[in-house]
Amino acid sequence: MLQYKKYYMPESKEDFFRVMESMETEFDIISGGTDLYAKERDAFYGIETVIDISKIAELSDIELKDGSIVIGANTRIQQFLEKQELIDGVPLMRHAASYFADQQIREIATVGGNLANSSPTGDMIPPLLAMDAVIHTIRKNENKICTRDIAISDFIQGVGKNVLVKGEIIHSITCPVLDGYGCAFKKVGLRRSLCISVVNSAFLVKLDETNRYFKDVRIAFGGIGPRPVRVREIEERLKRSVVSKDIIQEMVNYIPADIVESRSRKEYRKTVVKNFLLAGIYESLAEIGIMPE
Ligand SMILES: Cc1cc2nc3c(=O)[nH]c(=O)nc-3n(C[C@H](O)[C@H](O)[C@H](O)COP(=O)(O)OP(=O)(O)OC[C@H]3O[C@@H](n4cnc5c(N)ncnc54)[C@H](O)[C@@H]3O)c2cc1C
Repeated sequence: MLQYKKYYMPESKEDFFRVMESMETEFDIISGGTDLYAKERDAFYGIETVIDISKIAELSDIELKDGSIVIGANTRIQQFLEKQELIDGVPLMRHAASYFADQQIREIATVGGNLANSSPTGDMIPPLLAMDAVIHTIRKNENKICTRDIAISDFIQGVGKNVLVKGEIIHSITCPVLDGYGCAFKKVGLRRSLCISVVNSAFLVKLDETNRYFKDVRIAFGGIGPRPVRVREIEERLKRSVVSKDIIQEMVNYIPADIVESRSRKEYRKTVVKNFLLAGIYESLAEIGIMPE
């Protein structure tokens, strides 16, 4: 387990940049530390200093604004299960959080850390992708604190890679409040509890005012390639279709042949994608009281 010799805990973004600018050697940044601490086998792997951003108050803010909810990067996964604004505003994140680790980890792991870690199987990422979330970052440039807004679809570049530059941190994430949608999250891993996903997926489904036609469908998969993906082919086919068991079943034929890019367990992952696709749509519909015939 990783250990540091120098530990800084700034309480504001101004303090954070001040501490960062005073650094003369390499340093790490952590929030919950559940990914970074666990990663290194060597207690001292060369980096002796860490800046812990978990006490920067504004990174924990949660705010409803113009039909959206702005979620601070330091929002802990457990909060998606407990905080009413989050349960009401982003119910899909609650579904994902309920599959995330155990309560001990959820109490310290953050949504910002999950995004920044950019694992292909990060459980909070497919829901954010399905919602078309926007990531807001801060960094210091020419003595000024600058902000940047990045669409989630542009954020992750590959396994553990994202567009953050050195010294830039995630400040918050904006998600639209999607009223009237049913949603679902599916995950499979190598064991029953405390498991890291092999494949995960997020679903959002809305029907028109007659409750007969699909109005909007969003489907995102993780764990099948270097970065999570939306399945636009199927989303578009379902939109404006009559809701029926037949049309849902038919979608299996439109799963892109190359959807699974991962080389390991390829056939298994393809089977999971097919089964999750069906289960995710049915579960989302059930959440809004619809049982297709
Ligand atoms: C036992 C165990 C079980 C787990 N189970 C799951 C699971 O079920 N699903 C899942 O998805 N993950 C799981 N994880 C992984 C981990 O808990 C998550 O990825 C978590 O969300 C990371 O958040 P953190 O705040 O702890 O990140 P940290 O460990 O603090 O940081 C992770 C990385 O993100 C960077 N970072 C953190 N915050 C920011 C920020 N605001 N801006 C820029 N960079 C930042 C850090 O520099 C570091 O590189 C598990 C981990 C453990 C140890």
